[in-house]
Amino acid sequence: MAAIHTDDVERMEFQLSLRRRGISDQAVLRAMDEVPREHFVTSEFTDSAYADQALPIACGQTISQPYVVAYMTEQLEVEAGHRVLEVGTGSGYQAAILSRLARDVVSIERYRTLADTARERLKTLGYANVTVIAGDGFAGAPEQAPFDRIIVTAAAEEVPDALVEQLAEGGKMVLPLGPRHGTQHIVKLAKTAGGLTRENLIAVRFVPLLPGQAREL
Ligand code: SAH
Repeated sequence: MAAIHTDDVERMEFQLSLRRRGISDQAVLRAMDEVPREHFVTSEFTDSAYADQALPIACGQTISQPYVVAYMTEQLEVEAGHRVLEVGTGSGYQAAILSRLARDVVSIERYRTLADTARERLKTLGYANVTVIAGDGFAGAPEQAPFDRIIVTAAAEEVPDALVEQLAEGGKMVLPLGPRHGTQHIVKLAKTAGGLTRENLIAVRFVPLLPGQAREL
């Protein structure tokens, strides 16, 4: 009998745990299977790359837990022709997942170091439809708007107005909302001709969405 490689077992368990927790969208599961998470974590955490936990990255930030990445991506309902804006590039992992599902992804990060590293990493791994911008996600990317989908991967207390403006009519936005030290919830907004509809989803813990571009690197 052929030996099964430990990495394969780990990847199978990764898929199983996502399914067990309720992720059922096949395209999302495939994207989670295709993107090599070990390339997005720092070298000291390579062994934990497929564990279902958030991990520290540079600049005191975190790469989100795989389940939360899959959940938010599923809730975003991305279609192949969509242009997607992500706020909070971090490691670039979520952007890579989105790039498998959308036409184009624009991702904004307030730390230049993280933006530069993620841009280089995504390029090396061949995710050519992602543009990483160093800037303030509260302002969005007006020159590239409107977006069919917007995802924010850091928690704000309120929905940033500029992002609502940059969402296309019929568009959807998924973001964690809530107090910095209290319970945050993933919130899903849909923009219609009549205004915004809002749905509160699961409770989460995210690093805060901070105003302005970082002064440190
Ligand atoms: N999506 C990331 C996880 C990022 S953690 C990944 O897959 O790895 C949240 C990120 O949001 C951090 O890198 C943080 O620096 C960034 N962030 C916080 N406030 C921001 C803002 N106003 N504009 C852009 N990025 C911001």
